[in-house]
Amino acid sequence: LFDRLEAQPSDSLLALIGLVKADTRPEKIDVGVGVYRDAAGGTPILRCVKAAEKILLETQETKAYLGSEGDARFTELIKPIVFGGQGARDDRIVGVQTPGGCGALRLGAELIRASGGGARVFVGQPTWPNHNPLIGAAGVEMVDYPYYDKASHTVLFDRMMGALEEARPGDLVLVHGCCHNPTGADLSLNQWRELADLIAARGIVPFVDLAYQGLGNGLEDDAAGTRLVVEAAEQALVAQSCDKNFGLYRERTGALFVKASSGEQANVVFGNLIGLARTMWSMPPDHGAAIVRTVLETPELEADWRAELKEMLARIRSLRARLATFDPRLAYIDEQNGMFSMLPLSPEAVVELRASHGIYMANSGRFNVAGLSDDNVDYFARAVVERLPE
Ligand code: PMP
Repeated sequence: LFDRLEAQPSDSLLALIGLVKADTRPEKIDVGVGVYRDAAGGTPILRCVKAAEKILLETQETKAYLGSEGDARFTELIKPIVFGGQGARDDRIVGVQTPGGCGALRLGAELIRASGGGARVFVGQPTWPNHNPLIGAAGVEMVDYPYYDKASHTVLFDRMMGALEEARPGDLVLVHGCCHNPTGADLSLNQWRELADLIAARGIVPFVDLAYQGLGNGLEDDAAGTRLVVEAAEQALVAQSCDKNFGLYRERTGALFVKASSGEQANVVFGNLIGLARTMWSMPPDHGAAIVRTVLETPELEADWRAELKEMLARIRSLRARLATFDPRLAYIDEQNGMFSMLPLSPEAVVELRASHGIYMANSGRFNVAGLSDDNVDYFARAVVERLPE
């Protein structure tokens, strides 16, 4: 049965974890893997999450099945965080809980495929390396659009808009809601407005990946672009994740929201989402969503979550500011958002930094800002600046 299977290349970011582990130098720096780290280099469980887990331990009475939509109250509580009060009341927007943002992206792709009509998904380059496999595996055609120039570290907005002129009504544009991964370069609010106008004029369907809300400039600011394009569009998809902003990673916590043309159509969409989820994971895992629900239903815990999220955000912003003041060539880093930025280093320079300095980043030059600390940010910046092209 398995004789015809081909060996698969190992995931380069996971391989990087092994390399970091094997390096015995105390000054080594792991800016490869994409998890938030605190000043001590750890990824601890948030206080509000621990407190919610205690509540669940004491009060949860059953583990009986919830159904393919997962925890409906979780989805209801996340909806206003993503769409604001007005969007939360819009009955054209329906949502289901999914296994993380990955599950939401895949479910969205399956919905696109099930809708027929051969809609294509336009995807910016570069993007998160899992976008193409996750969406493409559903059998949806993908079309690249230029997004970012690594050498000049700018968003190629005019070229992006030019490429989207080729989209047909009903085609989708995948956009990162905030904290673009891997570049950290987001659209400005004016660019979001222009995109929203194009979407409305051309009948394009936005497919927003919102995996880092709260880690760029705050919960509200980070959702502003998403809200603009969703409002402008007749139909839209938003893949949301709580894995970063609640630090839940392995608990696989997220939701897919879909805006339909009418409340009636939204009910049909919802039924299809349930049917599609059943064919993939039957039901999403409960624990992460139950934690988020408990946090958001308990005013003290919600306040603590917002405070903890602000602490993470402040740490990322202060490290970005430190890098930017170190050298004018790193100034752009402070204008970008979220955990990642991309250095215009050659792959050879990236590999050489591992041997010479014990600095581990992705081959693309993407590095996790939160992997740095006040103690090593200058060491990192010095090593990097020496290797930047003139
Ligand atoms: N989208 C982007 C851009 C991401 O970086 C990630 C996580 N690395 C996800 C989606 C998926 O997140 P999750 O762990 O919730 O599946």
